[in-house]
Amino acid sequence: MQRKSTKKLLAEYSALNKQLKKRKHIIVLEEELKLDGLRGLAYVGWNIVKLDKNMGEKERLGTLLHEVAHLCFPKATENQILKAEKKMVNCLWKQGYRRVNKGE
Ligand SMILES: [Zn+2]
Repeated sequence: MQRKSTKKLLAEYSALNKQLKKRKHIIVLEEELKLDGLRGLAYVGWNIVKLDKNMGEKERLGTLLHEVAHLCFPKATENQILKAEKKMVNCLWKQGYRRVNKGE
């Protein structure tokens, strides 16, 4: 197997990074996050959200809103994001919003 030069690998990485940053829609990935107490992650600039797959539906909705808020407002403080999450999840939940197709 031929090894790629560092210069070539960096060029490929840079091209991929540019592609990811151009993407408009948000990709939501679910996996078992093994970090204690961590329910979600937002990759600002790449429009990627990662959610822990072991959450109840309301907690999942709140975490999704929380991480999307981080993508939308990268300069907001954690407290501002938490306040927005709480208001949005309680409002949406009370209005009856639920996932129709889980896991799609
Ligand atoms: Zn946060």
